[in-house]
Amino acid sequence: MQTKLKKQRYVTMSLDIPENLQKLVAETTAKATGLVYTKPAQKQIELNGATYLISFIESLHKKDEETLKPKKQRVNPFENPEADLIVHRGSKYSIVLNKFPIIKNHFLLITNEFVKQDSLLQPEDLIVIHNILAQLGKLKRRNGTPVAFFNSGPHSGASQAHKHVQFISLLEEEGEEEFPLFLDEIVGNQPLFIPDQDHPALFDKNRKFAHFILPLNAETISEETFALVYMSLIQNCLTVLKDHHFLDHLKSPDSMSLSYNFIMTEKAIMLVPRSLELVHNEKLGYTFNLNSLGYLGMILVKEKAVFDETVNGNVDLDEVLLKGGFAREYEKGDPEGDY
Ligand code: AMP
Repeated sequence: MQTKLKKQRYVTMSLDIPENLQKLVAETTAKATGLVYTKPAQKQIELNGATYLISFIESLHKKDEETLKPKKQRVNPFENPEADLIVHRGSKYSIVLNKFPIIKNHFLLITNEFVKQDSLLQPEDLIVIHNILAQLGKLKRRNGTPVAFFNSGPHSGASQAHKHVQFISLLEEEGEEEFPLFLDEIVGNQPLFIPDQDHPALFDKNRKFAHFILPLNAETISEETFALVYMSLIQNCLTVLKDHHFLDHLKSPDSMSLSYNFIMTEKAIMLVPRSLELVHNEKLGYTFNLNSLGYLGMILVKEKAVFDETVNGNVDLDEVLLKGGFAREYEKGDPEGDY
């Protein structure tokens, strides 16, 4: 008993995260009056070897009012999070519920002090994220596989400037079929490795957009290793930007920031470099707003006609995603200048 308590205290103190997080999330959700949950209509489809989950909600009126404002005029919801949404307050990080979830148990890890969403994740952030995933993963059978995501940069789909990493679990209701995570399937049981010229990061051949996947299968992962894994993927993204001449026309220091989507599971990490947040589809007359979940294959639409067309397989979703990212296959530039 003594040892167990000591161990728990060590974990809690070093990571700033309580050990009974899932229970706290459930309890806070049950009490939260400010939470606006909207259950979407959903359908899973297969298209050219990839699985997509299409979700439809008419509108998120309250959310839209705020998110329609120019990004710079929005009130920072994470400076003083709404009290009934707070799951946990630690010394460096807090955990708050998403106020406008369309997926159950959607919560966010935020920094207590303001840190820019566009700044790189720190090794400690990566450890905390992975530890939360490992903790939630113990309840996987009941709640589904936990996923963390981070939208960073002006074209990434992020709507808030204060650093926040989001968490969801894939199973909505017990007994439902779980949405497959292609990054987990790609890594399988491969052990963690740091990529180099001879051993590049992994990818899914069924997706045309550039993306970089690495396994996280290891007994323990040190801060140093996490930093190497993450920075090697950031370098991959920068090389793609350079090769697509995206770094050639920088007009202001603002436009220099890299836009990417970051997705982490217990066993894998993936980065997707982004070129556009909003992708207009001429055929549908509809603009998709794409973030990390979109690049996992979870596509949210807000018009019924678009939902119908999409679930009937009439929209080439990989092409939509490609437009918001970069081509995976292209004539590479001089490797001398790679990041
Ligand atoms: P992103 O759009 O990727 O920057 O993520 C912002 C997240 O914060 C979304 O999941 C929003 O639904 C959520 N959100 C927006 N306003 C609030 C709020 N007042 N309290 C908690 N979560 C919020």
